Amino acid sequence: MADNLNAALAPGATIGILGGGQLGRMAATAAAELGYRCHIYSPDADAPAKEVSAAQTTAPYEDQDAARAFANAVDVVTFEFENVPDETLAVICEIVAVRPGVAALHVSQDRTIEKTFLADNGIGTAPWAPLTSDAELADAKAIGFPAILKTARFGYDGKGQVRVNTANDLAAAWTEIDRAPAVLEGFVDFEREISVIVARDMQRRTECYVPVDNVHRDHILFTTTAPSTIDASLAGTARNIAGRIANALDLVGLLAVEMFVTRDGGILVNEIAPRPHNSGHWTMDACAVSQFEQFIRAVAGLPLGNPARHSDAVMTNLIGDEADRWLEISGKAGACLHLYGKTESRPGRKMGHVNRLSPKRPSAP
Ligand code: AMP
Repeated sequence: MADNLNAALAPGATIGILGGGQLGRMAATAAAELGYRCHIYSPDADAPAKEVSAAQTTAPYEDQDAARAFANAVDVVTFEFENVPDETLAVICEIVAVRPGVAALHVSQDRTIEKTFLADNGIGTAPWAPLTSDAELADAKAIGFPAILKTARFGYDGKGQVRVNTANDLAAAWTEIDRAPAVLEGFVDFEREISVIVARDMQRRTECYVPVDNVHRDHILFTTTAPSTIDASLAGTARNIAGRIANALDLVGLLAVEMFVTRDGGILVNEIAPRPHNSGHWTMDACAVSQFEQFIRAVAGLPLGNPARHSDAVMTNLIGDEADRWLEISGKAGACLHLYGKTESRPGRKMGHVNRLSPKRPSAP
């Protein structure tokens, strides 16, 4: 469906969100504060986002009848989850505008497409090679070792990833991920990991949150420190990269770009996500306009808000039973607790996060 570039959704309109996890939950809460209703589509009846939204569909993502009914019930569709099947998206796109758009979804669904897209746009990544057949094994080995083998699709929080130490281990590592289509990535000996979240509106204006430092534990984001302590020139480069990617995708919505800062001061893009991102949760308490509000503003056709922060922040994820400390955390000065309403705690499952605020210090732009 052609997108109406000038129509901002009026309060009371319904935003359809594909996916029902914590990102959908926090987006639905931000939407409600702007007077919108959210309709959550997810196969999980207990999805965290459904608890806080006005309407819900519980159906598999492959169910085209359910997708059609959902599209007819909402004013715009967005997603908090990338792995929506193409056929379902096609059904939805015939009925209602999808923002940030199918192109952004396609690029971020598949690491091969994503890395090719980044290379085509002159943006550096770790050296990589596709691995989809035995014939590609030899070429892939030319990447060098150690390396990381990642499934091309459906990977998150380190799932579908195997570290490969030598060329001799590659075939076995591929078998370990069921010989799924994959990419082999050279291991980056990074100085640090950063990310940038950029919003882009229907008038193609962009607004960027300050670059942040991310620390992972067991492949899962552990802390985000805002702002990053990188110097001004590197911060400018990081913002510029995020803006170029958003423009190249013609994105309307939010884009998170995860990057490695190399020891020689370069930046390589690791991954992009065209939606709110865990490394932007600090904005909920440290900025007047959070990443979730910014996301909803872009998708609803409102002007973007000011992404400036009023405080510095450290976001810590509460993973598995770490969320059992909710009472103690809630009593700490400057600690802002967010829990996702998940009933079952499992090791590695994100149950909530805490933002610890401190007075704003000068930072790189
Ligand atoms: P990903 O799921 O691709 O975002 O990877 C999760 C985390 O694994 C990253 O944030 C890094 O900490 C680590 N990682 C992924 N790819 C590489 C790489 N090519 N070199 C070094 N570390 C990596």
